[in-house]
Amino acid sequence: MHLRSLITRTNICVLPQCTHAESLSSVKLLDGGEYSCTGSCRIPSDVVHDRHECETRLCSITCQLCKRLCSHQDHMHGLEDGESHLCG
Ligand SMILES: [Zn+2]
Ligand SMILES: [Zn+2]
Ligand SMILES: [Zn+2]
Ligand SMILES: [Zn+2]
Repeated sequence: MHLRSLITRTNICVLPQCTHAESLSSVKLLDGGEYSCTGSCRIPSDVVHDRHECETRLCSITCQLCKRLCSHQDHMHGLEDGESHLCG
């Protein structure tokens, strides 16, 4: 019985990740509410970055006219003043 054989190893090198809370928080919505993404930053900690971003790519705020998701391709675009969220 070789205990060593029970250990499975992957060849994927896992970089240490920045685990800071994402920058996309307390985004003001037109209806008076606020949106905060609950994700934490997924950028490797050895990469210099000034915005912490989770792994989500698309905007995850709902459309301001209906309940569908905003179709914007930039998850962080709600951080810009005056951005609108529309499902397209
Ligand atoms: Zn970060
Ligand atoms: Zn996010
Ligand atoms: Zn949006
Ligand atoms: Zn809509």
